[in-house]
Amino acid sequence: MYPRSFHYHRASSLDEAVTMLGQLGGSAKVLAGGQSLIPLLKLRFANPEHLVDLNFIPATSYIRAEEAALHFGALRFGAMTRHAEIERSAMARTIPLLHDCAAGIADVQVRNRGTIGGSLAEADPSGDWANALITLDTTVHCLGSGGARSLSLQDFITDAYTTALAPNELVTEVEVKIPPKGSGGAYVAFKRSAPVYPSASAAVQLTMADDVCQDAAIALGCVGLTAIRATEAEAALRGKILNADASGNDKTIATAAEAARAAADPQSDMRGSAEYKRQLVVALVKRAIQIAVRRARGEHVEGVHLYA
Ligand SMILES: Cc1cc2nc3c(=O)[nH]c(=O)nc-3n(C[C@H](O)[C@H](O)[C@H](O)COP(=O)(O)OP(=O)(O)OC[C@H]3O[C@@H](n4cnc5c(N)ncnc54)[C@H](O)[C@@H]3O)c2cc1C
Repeated sequence: MYPRSFHYHRASSLDEAVTMLGQLGGSAKVLAGGQSLIPLLKLRFANPEHLVDLNFIPATSYIRAEEAALHFGALRFGAMTRHAEIERSAMARTIPLLHDCAAGIADVQVRNRGTIGGSLAEADPSGDWANALITLDTTVHCLGSGGARSLSLQDFITDAYTTALAPNELVTEVEVKIPPKGSGGAYVAFKRSAPVYPSASAAVQLTMADDVCQDAAIALGCVGLTAIRATEAEAALRGKILNADASGNDKTIATAAEAARAAADPQSDMRGSAEYKRQLVVALVKRAIQIAVRRARGEHVEGVHLYA
């Protein structure tokens, strides 16, 4: 189906895009990679009268490292940075979970167009970025008619498909603090095939001192209206020795994975029954913890998504 007709506006700066949104009113939407918006237009689920295109604004697609005296620094991603740019970036690979996430999103066509800013603004409960980034210290920088402001990712996504963005406000940058030494993370998604959203996913970020887990963040994707922090599972790991050998029989990791099952709140749908997704969560959390522990030790482990 063709979209309903709309007026197309090409913004040449972020400030101009904000001004345009203010002038055009509630019937305007911004266009980033178009990988969520264009299908919605074609299905006529979204029918904006105006589209403000961000694609021709210079210097909105970048990955920068920031040194800092008081913390470990940060990586900064321009809102229009494509998933594929992050997948290919050596700088992004310094936080391996970011590479896992970018490399597993859909297929190469979607990754070449879709953007990190668009993905967070869409707040799709099945989207990968929010679930991966919530295990890190992530700030979303925004610009609106009232000026610039910054929100933690936790405060930015308020519900399924719902964010704290005001009507004329844009995501301009995503800032991710670099985890402390001894950290390792992994993002593992289970998909029926490459170009579809995951059936379930698990993000794990650990800080280890030798074999003892000092800190843990575990998030579950596609099994709730927003990413779910599995806080009981995190608590089950803190202060414990984690053994991520090939047998996969570590009792502490198994306990954490069971706690994650209890935290999941999935719905039955065409991707599987609720019980099936809970079982997936257990397997994905176990696998993500094992990879995270090995990466924290300094091992190079390619994170692989699982395909049915
Ligand atoms: C076949 C297919 C499979 C996919 N599979 C996956 C998957 O497995 N995992 C996954 O995570 N995603 C998947 N996606 C979605 C993809 O990652 C999109 O790139 C992402 O959801 C939206 O990013 P976008 O840049 O394309 O945004 P757009 O589609 O252009 O915009 C999405 C929404 O966000 C708003 N918006 C965009 N940018 C901004 C901004 N800077 N500030 C404020 N609002 C903004 C738009 O107005 C719109 O409402 C898939 C898409 C397709 C078509």
